[in-house]
This record gives sequence, C-alpha cells and structure tokens, in this order.
Amino acid sequence: MRIIARSAAIEQQDWQQILASAIRSPEQLFAALRLPATDLSARQQAASTFPLLVPEPYLRKMEPGNPDDPLLRQVMPDAEELVAMPGYVTDPLGEQQANVTPGIVHKYNGRLLLLAATGCAVNCRYCFRRHFDYTDNRLSRRQWQTALDYVRDDPSISEVILSGGDPLMLKDDALDELLEAIGHISHVRRLRIHTRLPVVIPQRLTDHLIQQLSASHLSISLVLHINHPNELDALFRQYIQPLRQAGITLLNQSVLLNGVNNRVDTLVNLSQSLFDAGILPYYLHLLDPVTGTHHFDNPEQEALALYRQLHQQLPGYLLPRLVREEAGKAGKSLILMDDNF
Ligand code: SF4
Repeated sequence: MRIIARSAAIEQQDWQQILASAIRSPEQLFAALRLPATDLSARQQAASTFPLLVPEPYLRKMEPGNPDDPLLRQVMPDAEELVAMPGYVTDPLGEQQANVTPGIVHKYNGRLLLLAATGCAVNCRYCFRRHFDYTDNRLSRRQWQTALDYVRDDPSISEVILSGGDPLMLKDDALDELLEAIGHISHVRRLRIHTRLPVVIPQRLTDHLIQQLSASHLSISLVLHINHPNELDALFRQYIQPLRQAGITLLNQSVLLNGVNNRVDTLVNLSQSLFDAGILPYYLHLLDPVTGTHHFDNPEQEALALYRQLHQQLPGYLLPRLVREEAGKAGKSLILMDDNF
C-alpha cells in the first residue's frame, strides 16, 4: 500500500484542534461570512435544541456574503425548524424500536448499525437523528463488549455498519481497537463506515487511519455523505486521494434537499465531481420526515421529475438510486420512474 506524501503544512493541522475551534453560534457564523445577522432570536432558539456546529474547513467552502449559499443552508439554524408540521415526527424511521441493545440498531437482515460515536463534527439541520436519544448509546470502550457480543451471537450478520453520530469522531486508537474486535468475529466479512467528517474536516483522514483501514482483512467501504459539489474542494480531494489509492471502496449518498441541491445541474455536477474524486454516487435519499426539517423537503412527484432529467443526462454508473427509508421495512424503498417518461 502506498500513502501519498502530503505537504508539511497540511500534516501539521490536527483534526481535533480544528474541531475544538469550530463555530458554535449563529452570530459567529454570520460574522465569519460577512453577513447581516437576520432572525437571530429564532435561530438562537433553534440552536438551543440542536446546536450549531461548523468547523473551519467547511466554512471555507462557503461563499462570503451569500445568504443563500447551499452549504450555509445545511448548517444555519432557521426559524422554520420551530414550526410543528403534521407528518413530521422525532423518530420517522422507528430507530428507537430497532435499538435492540445499547450501541446497536438492527433493522435489516444480515447487517446492523453499530453506533460507534454519538457526536458529529458538523450539525446538519436536516439530520434524521437530530432527536435520537443517545442516552443509552453513549458507550465507553469497556461497554463496547455488549454491542460486540450481540454481533458475535448472530451468525447471520455479515456486515457491520459503523454509524453514530459520526464514527470517525473516535480517535485513532479507539477505532483501531474496534476494528480489531470486529475483525475477530468470523462471520463478519464487510465493514461499512458512514461518515461526513472527511467532508467537513478532511484532516481527519490521517495516515494512521488510512493504514489501519487498508491493513484490515475486512472488506471496507467508506460511505461519504456529500450533498453539493461545492463540498468537494481541493483540500478534500487532496485528503481523499490516499484513501482511494489504498484500495478502500468509496461511495456516496446524498439527501435531496430543497434550496441546497434540488436542481438538475447541481446533481449532475455532483455525480461527475464525485466520480472525478474516485467516489461512486449510490443513493439519493428523499428527506426523512423529521420534526424541524420540513423546509428541506421536496414532494415525491417533484423529486421524480428531477430524477427523470438526471436519468437523461447521466450515464447509468453515475446515476444514484432514488430511495426513501421507511420504518419497519427490511431495506430502502426504491422510488421508481414509470416506463413512459
Ligand atoms: S453528520 Fe450525519 S449524523 Fe451528524 S448531524 Fe450531519 S446528518 Fe446528522
């Protein structure tokens, strides 16, 4: 395995220090982008239930002075979050019910989620877990054993999906320990890591992390959550390249978000930019109806109309599958086009 050498200036930046100095209030975010502070009271109220968190590398991808920046919209608390809308609930995917033991969400056959960390490096306003009760899922390293025992006791599990929060919030030594323990469970063949951390703090992709992932005998894929082509800046591409060269499978899933990426040209650009960076787009999710997120939603018929145009403009391998997740179903539901489009 070959790890590409990075410049000394880049190497010196520590992802935890970057996270520690992240922006944590609407006032700070407005000031950093040289924007007038509008609707401050409502934004502060929204942030009091789901805090604002924006690390500096993500801030840098936004356009100063643009209140409609698609990345800003993903992270700036909004008065709409305070509006109760019928049909929007705190747990639309029934995850609390599938939380079979602390740290484990088991919804699908043959695979399960291990909630490796409860925090994230960015708080996305549309997050489907923004109301998830992490109280019983905040595991110490010692308590991981209970979750790992659950995996060990079910020989039908061939894939473990590290989720959270964001599993890359674990420090390298903790992640090493977890990878090793999962690697010792004979029926687990694949490990999937769902993360947005490399998008918001690319420096999280340390050489140590890449070496550990590539050294595992498990078949490992990293699923990035990238919603807009502006998220794929030069720093991100620089950090993702060694991961790609180390043979880690890189996939992406996006959420279709009103005011962020619900345009054909944006989604075409996103798929093409992902592929240029060595990442395959595989899911385009309809928004989960979570309380406080209705302003990001796109009605299904509008999503389908958009998807038909995407289908006409992209080769099949760059066309993500349009899906919705529903409580109680054994997998994602495909949203299908009719034959006459
Ligand atoms: S990174 Fe994922 S889990 Fe974390 S806030 Fe964003 S959408 Fe939610």
